[in-house]
Amino acid sequence: MVLEKYKQKRNFRATPEPAGDPKVAAERAKRQETAKERFFCVQKHLASHLHYDFRLEHNGVLLSWAVPKGPSLDPKTKRLAMHVEDHPIEYGTFEGVIPEGYGAGIVMLWDVGTWKPEVPDVDAALKKGDLKFTLDGYKLKGSWVLVRTGGRGPGAYGGGDARSWLLIKHKDEWAGDVDITTFAPLSVKSGGDFENILAADKPDVWVSNRPAKGGEAGAMLAKIIERAAALKAQGKGEKAEGKRHKAEGKGHKAEGTKNTKKAVRHPKKPR
Ligand code: MN
Repeated sequence: MVLEKYKQKRNFRATPEPAGDPKVAAERAKRQETAKERFFCVQKHLASHLHYDFRLEHNGVLLSWAVPKGPSLDPKTKRLAMHVEDHPIEYGTFEGVIPEGYGAGIVMLWDVGTWKPEVPDVDAALKKGDLKFTLDGYKLKGSWVLVRTGGRGPGAYGGGDARSWLLIKHKDEWAGDVDITTFAPLSVKSGGDFENILAADKPDVWVSNRPAKGGEAGAMLAKIIERAAALKAQGKGEKAEGKRHKAEGKGHKAEGTKNTKKAVRHPKKPR
């Protein structure tokens, strides 16, 4: 059954995540035969650990990898990507709070766009553990590769977790040393950060700043709120530093405002 693992892990009465309509999956799979481009997205997921879920449309579902550190635009920085269960195509626009159960936390739509395989046969490439592709998103663009490193399949280095892959940027005009996850941390759907998504989705929880319910789910949500608040505080600190830097930098307008973040140094950090 398509999406069996996805459905097994979730209780759709408790989660706002889409269950996945088989008709939609069939339509998308059919569309793929003639479409030049397919959908892709990256969801920033603040759960027990912060990670980025990288998803590529294929055969009516979203192939999915959990990338703990998020994608890097630097070809030298290979990012671990754990292959996880396929997700329904409808998941691609999801943003919100998962209050309890599997994946409990906050999901932000961090990037969306289209992708094109750079190989003629995606299934063969997946089997081999070497999928080259081109992305056209808001934040991620150009040529990339997913390489399987674990397991015993062809292309794997042997041993380790069979789900282990690496997400690597190829050298091209879209590669660079900008840390894209800190440079562009916000949602491409709502424009907000985690706490904005939480505030929009669960205003009661956000306002009282404590879980709506007791028990494990409540404790989990409390932790998430704490983390969202900590991230917010961190972000504020960075912004304040940026302002200070701008003020200091009077007369250096030529440096431009775009690179303000890059040029910021923490005042307490020894050089
Ligand atoms: Mn996730």
